[in-house]
Amino acid sequence: MYAVGLRKGDVFQNMSGYGLFTGGLGIHYGAERLGLLTVPAGAGNSKRQLKLLRDFKVDGVHIIPSYALHFASFLKQEGVDPRSLNWRFALIGAEPHTEEARLRIQELLGLKAFNSYGMTEMNGPGVAFECEKQCGMHVWEDAYIAEIINPETGEPAAEGEVGELVMTTLCRDGMPILRYRTRDLTRFLPGPCACGRTHRRLDRITGRADDMLIIKGCNIYPMQVEQALMSMPEVAQNYVIELFKEGEMDQLRVKVEIKDDYFVEDMRALTSLQKKITARLRDEILVTPRVELVQHDSIPKSEGKAVRVVDLREKE
Ligand SMILES: [Zn+2]
Repeated sequence: MYAVGLRKGDVFQNMSGYGLFTGGLGIHYGAERLGLLTVPAGAGNSKRQLKLLRDFKVDGVHIIPSYALHFASFLKQEGVDPRSLNWRFALIGAEPHTEEARLRIQELLGLKAFNSYGMTEMNGPGVAFECEKQCGMHVWEDAYIAEIINPETGEPAAEGEVGELVMTTLCRDGMPILRYRTRDLTRFLPGPCACGRTHRRLDRITGRADDMLIIKGCNIYPMQVEQALMSMPEVAQNYVIELFKEGEMDQLRVKVEIKDDYFVEDMRALTSLQKKITARLRDEILVTPRVELVQHDSIPKSEGKAVRVVDLREKE
């Protein structure tokens, strides 16, 4: 997590004494160039994150979506009203996530969440950002050439069609990157943006070209599972998709965290919820998964990007 403040001055002077400025990512230097006090805070250690948010009256954070959802649970546990914090915005990115996840982050953290795109090989977060309209990420087209191709043929994708994003840098001296295949799947959004900027907009990343699971002949992207789950009010913040073998057949199991209010001892209620989630997933991915309901916060949380797919097929 990065804490981004909108004031410079005493705090900045004091902070440098603590050696918290270690970053090297595009967003860090970009934010500093704008005159923002920027505090690299790393991932995990939620107690310390909360202390930083309070001590520096942080205005905005750059945060991985799965950690944002985890942090919301942490605040609830600690009895902290997120709306009592100074923050007003979050820049979210670095892992694919759905619109449903964004809406949850906004609701649970009491701020506006803007999507961002970047990659370690190319300035980190800082390749494309959403504007205040929150409808797609403007690519900095004065700094990059963005193309969308069909990942199988390498040919340009048709206008508006989802394909693999290919990037070329225009203003890098040391390590220019030419037609770099990102493996990230997205598309250009048609038409101009209501904000008036003319740089083209990327749709949210729907997954990676190598993310696709093939189960019983159906192509499934993990983001489809998230989309279905996050639209259900009973579902809490975390889930994991497990692949396993039953005889010769590949099977899909989805472990879903359920909110405390719904995780009741009434077996009939739980079974009916399990059926409802199974049906919702089947509608989305066209395969019937095994659905296992688990208690809120029981799926181990990784410190960095969330592990959403676990392949158990070799082990079973
Ligand atoms: Zn815009």
